[in-house]
Amino acid sequence: MERICPDCGETDLSKFGFRDGRGGLKYVCKVCENERSKKWLREHPAVNRARVAANRVKNTDRIREKEKEYSLQRRATERGRLDNRLKSSIAGTLRGYKNHKKWQELTGINAEELKKHLQKTIPPGYGWEDYVSGKLQLDHKTPICKFTYQTPDDDDFKKCWSLENMQLLAAFDNGAKGRRG
Ligand SMILES: [Zn+2]
Repeated sequence: MERICPDCGETDLSKFGFRDGRGGLKYVCKVCENERSKKWLREHPAVNRARVAANRVKNTDRIREKEKEYSLQRRATERGRLDNRLKSSIAGTLRGYKNHKKWQELTGINAEELKKHLQKTIPPGYGWEDYVSGKLQLDHKTPICKFTYQTPDDDDFKKCWSLENMQLLAAFDNGAKGRRG
């Protein structure tokens, strides 16, 4: 079999891809085939946009799937459920949705105290309203996963959920630091 790529004159058979289904080699070399499909997409921007959008949906689904998996893992342990409850009830209280009392009992810190402390940790360029809107998040300086408590009665619990260990951080930075457990 011989091939001469009509676009670039390539004759090395190993540079040609296989035809789907029908067997044998394609007429255009791999490099030029790639160029042709790029050119075609440039000439058909609507198709290109549709493909990009479809890929984005696929990726978003994958990310959502991962997050779901992660939160299920957390919910699978007593300790994970405790952490989740604390996080959401603290956020609910400080963002003004509902004044949850339980976390204040468990940590020994009251809402006003925590709010006052967190306000001092707001990164430059942000305000309290950014915490309310979710742009800032409650962050643990020493990550939750480094503590070994199982219940709120363990010493480690109070250290983890102490004023000194809590701060506000941009939601983006928090994510960039990786999963903090
Ligand atoms: Zn070629």
